Amino acid sequence: MIEKALEVLQRYFGYTHFRDGQQKVIGSLLQGSDTIAIMPTGAGKSLAYQIPALLFKGTTLVISPLISLMKDQVDALQQYGVPATFINSSLTLSEVRSRVQKAVQGQYKLLYIAPERLESDSFRGLLQSLQVSFMAIDEAHCVSQWGHDFRPSYLHLGPFLKSLPRKPLIGAFTATATEEVQTDVVRLLGLTKPNIFVTGFDRPNLTFSTLRGENKKEFVLEYIKNHEDQPGIIYAGTRKEVDNLNNFLVRSGIKAGKYHAGLSDADRQKSQEDFLFDKITVMVATNAFGMGIDKSNVRYVIHYTMPKNMEAYYQEAGRAGRDGEPGDCILLFSPQDVVLQRYLIEQTVFHPERKMNELKKLQGMVDYCHTPRCLRKTILEYFGENDIPEECGNCSSCNDEGEVMDITLEAQKVFSCIYRMRERFGIGLVAEVLKGSRKAKIRELRFDELSTHGIMHDTALQEIKDLINYFVAEGYLQLSNGEYPVVKLLPNAVSVLKGEGRVSRKISPKTSRQESDKDSLFHRLRALRREIAMRENLPPYMIFSDSTLREMAQNCPLNN
Ligand code: ADP
Ligand code: MG
Ligand code: ZN
Repeated sequence: MIEKALEVLQRYFGYTHFRDGQQKVIGSLLQGSDTIAIMPTGAGKSLAYQIPALLFKGTTLVISPLISLMKDQVDALQQYGVPATFINSSLTLSEVRSRVQKAVQGQYKLLYIAPERLESDSFRGLLQSLQVSFMAIDEAHCVSQWGHDFRPSYLHLGPFLKSLPRKPLIGAFTATATEEVQTDVVRLLGLTKPNIFVTGFDRPNLTFSTLRGENKKEFVLEYIKNHEDQPGIIYAGTRKEVDNLNNFLVRSGIKAGKYHAGLSDADRQKSQEDFLFDKITVMVATNAFGMGIDKSNVRYVIHYTMPKNMEAYYQEAGRAGRDGEPGDCILLFSPQDVVLQRYLIEQTVFHPERKMNELKKLQGMVDYCHTPRCLRKTILEYFGENDIPEECGNCSSCNDEGEVMDITLEAQKVFSCIYRMRERFGIGLVAEVLKGSRKAKIRELRFDELSTHGIMHDTALQEIKDLINYFVAEGYLQLSNGEYPVVKLLPNAVSVLKGEGRVSRKISPKTSRQESDKDSLFHRLRALRREIAMRENLPPYMIFSDSTLREMAQNCPLNN
């Protein structure tokens, strides 16, 4: 079966092989099973129903919500030599009649119709005489009120399908993967035991990295210098941050431009064109930059601050490497990002259920920043894909040489502190207690709640917080919902407390705070440079570039 499909792919469409996911979906449809295909935009959903349509007898009905899209698809099909047409409100009544008549005579393999058409009794009557064996529903999330794009006319699909003499095979296609939407699609379209495939989210040519942002500006500058003349996007969290970073880069001699909603239409337009036509190589932007840009040779996307959720992150990061050539997706995060995003959600989302949902998604993003596991696997599982290998070999987790350390003792310290404090406090306070802080808030605690006070006094406060976040990401701890999330113990942590399990962590250059001597020398040189720069009232790079400083540090004989 699938060989035939491959033959059609090559013969009609001229492509050599199926993309990830297409084959599974087509296979399922050819087997005669109702199928839901959840694939991201651009993954190639159209072919996944067009090819079965070409292999099945009779005419396939395609429900599609956008008139312009419909015409494009039909034009494309006709160019490939596939007999296809569409029926929507742009046609005259007699044209509609004539197309339906031809359809009934079996002149088309595919008939695209707008869902609104199904509202008309007479039109439904016309379709009765058409033998429909397969019906493809594109943008199927439109049936669901949970989707972002609900179309009331999609609700006519269910009754229409029921009215047909024989229930056709159904394929539902969408890029929206939430469970609410899936359930609605199954229920409202009356699908019988559908195969559900979530696929095609992987972008194998992208390399994912997460990095705690210590010296973010310097990192970015250094990175850009090492990737000279390669187009890249840097997403920052706020307009002000975009302005600052852009100024810094321009002052450092980088061909950078900026884009955010605070600029005039003309300025935005200009930036966008400069970037598109390679007049600037780096675009510093807020998330306002993206809709409708299509630059295929973006070689890297750096996030200067952590976005609010994985959906946003993946969409933005995914603008790298659209041409299939390698692309770098680097996420620089710092603890303040979480505070900022949480604040934004608190300030802008009022509906309690939605707020909760947004906070949960934010936690997914935080977990991504802290996970030691393969980042690609983390992403794909987040979007609902299954059977993903443990390691992709192409992300910072997989590539880190890192050393696996046993951190059971630290884990026990953290967990017992949370236990003693009766799971009533957030990450910050737990860390302060472990560190042995004497803040007023801590002096208010009862004596027995403070029995772990200071047991990690020789660990840096931020490192303790990182550790707690690591335990959250790894499923030992959980953060409660709500405005002030409280750390709670999960069963895994309880086992560790009882001495029943061990905890390990891969300590990589990115999580280890121990700098090599050369690194610390580099940082000291840089501090010195900053002082001189301030005294001389010059930008630091005018004194020495980072690469020069690094070279100096490397070449300096260290004797201790
Ligand atoms: P979606 O509907 O999932 O957003 P489309 O069906 O519009 O995506 O396909 C996006 C692009 O991918 C189209 O240009 C299509 O021709 C191309 N494409 C689809 N399948 C393949 C394939 N197997 N090989 C190469 N290109 C493909
Ligand atoms: Mg599509
Ligand atoms: Zn990986």
